[in-house]
Amino acid sequence: MKNIVIFGAPGSGKGTQSDKIVAKYGFKHISTGDVLRGEIKNGTELGNTAKSYIDNGQLIPDSLMIDILASVYDSFGTVEGVIFDGFPRTIPQAEALKAMLAERGTEVSVMLDLEVPEEELMDRLIKRGQISGRADDNEETIKKRLTVYHNQTSPLIDWYKNDGKYTHIKGTGDLETIFADICAAIDRA
Ligand code: ATP
Ligand code: MG
Repeated sequence: MKNIVIFGAPGSGKGTQSDKIVAKYGFKHISTGDVLRGEIKNGTELGNTAKSYIDNGQLIPDSLMIDILASVYDSFGTVEGVIFDGFPRTIPQAEALKAMLAERGTEVSVMLDLEVPEEELMDRLIKRGQISGRADDNEETIKKRLTVYHNQTSPLIDWYKNDGKYTHIKGTGDLETIFADICAAIDRA
């Protein structure tokens, strides 16, 4: 059983590469962004709370995210592997993930850091906004999300280095080359 954290700034390609991992390895995929967008679409109480944060480029409070994550994880039952996409995004979330997995007798196998330069992230997200219609893919909100990434999420790079789980992945260039690097890291983990 492998637990893969796929990490990177907004627009770094976490969702795209996760789909490819699912197709090849049959792992389960938790995208916290997708979970939240589903709740918003269904007009649930959680969705209404989440919407105000997401539309403003901010993170949903840790306590809420941690509960959601544990319940999705436990709904999977026995599986070959799980991909965590968009979680953790803060140090308390990384600590909670470590504790949650330890309680279940397992741990993070590898953290894959998809690195993409800032100008390319901006470009990709603006283009995605034109197609996806995602309310948070507009220039003003993208800038806020990138700031939130730098302040709250990027410290996880050192956190995972200290934890011995960090692997750098070059997130630019050909999709298949990026995926091959990811597969090599998963196979080693
Ligand atoms: P990518 O483009 O690489 O898939 P993303 O940053 O564009 O990543 P999502 O991961 O889909 O998008 O997240 C969208 C929004 O959902 C975030 O900006 C944040 O408001 C909220 N969110 C998602 N995951 C978390 C989390 N772990 N903690 C707090 N908020 C979260
Ligand atoms: Mg995504």
